[in-house]
Amino acid sequence: MNTLYWVLLALILGSVGSVALASLMLLLKKKQLEILSQHLLYVAGGTLLGAVFMGMLPKSLSMLDAPTVLMTTLVGILLFFLLEKIILWRKCRNTQCNRQLTAAAPIVLIGDAFHNAIDGIIIAAGFLTSNEMGVMVTVSVVLHEIPQELADFGILLKSGYSKRKALGYNLLSGATAIVTGVAAYFMLDQMQEGIPYALALSASSFLYIALADLIPEMHRKTSLRASLTQFVLILLGMFLIFINVHH
Ligand SMILES: [Zn+2]
Repeated sequence: MNTLYWVLLALILGSVGSVALASLMLLLKKKQLEILSQHLLYVAGGTLLGAVFMGMLPKSLSMLDAPTVLMTTLVGILLFFLLEKIILWRKCRNTQCNRQLTAAAPIVLIGDAFHNAIDGIIIAAGFLTSNEMGVMVTVSVVLHEIPQELADFGILLKSGYSKRKALGYNLLSGATAIVTGVAAYFMLDQMQEGIPYALALSASSFLYIALADLIPEMHRKTSLRASLTQFVLILLGMFLIFINVHH
């Protein structure tokens, strides 16, 4: 099958598909939903880090010299820091950071749209590198997007959106991934020398999500049982990537 079709399929799965899966999970009981969502988040921590260190960085390093790859990754981390800061500023401006929910809802959607747009580019860059890389990246995207979408649903519903409206807006913000992914596919296909850079920047995004977003979230639970569960599921996520690389 043509790479473009794979990219499209993966983009739909990673964006709109994640929203759909998340909204199906809303049918579960609240407690079950919370547990499932948390466990997915732990596995996602492992797949994101695994994809960076067993997939994206080694591949990028095989195409470009090490100092350039690592410098690109470093610059990427700074960019994602700034991007997150801008979104937080906008969230805090009129509420002194009290997270007034009515103000937070549009910002959640805009921030999410940006984030999904980047995931779309990462998926395209993954498939243009190889089908294995594409699959690895898509799995990592879906696993961290489902808990993310569930959290967004929660915020939208709390701020007074109907379920239908929350779903509609979430789908819309997810769809940005399809637009940027297809655009990135055609650009990178024309400009193959950009692929190792795109992989290095994708690695920064995954590193940032895993280390700056997911792991701090995990540290909010401190019991021995929860900590062990987290550790085992992070390892499981890494193992999923490992078998994808070494099958
Ligand atoms: Zn994402």
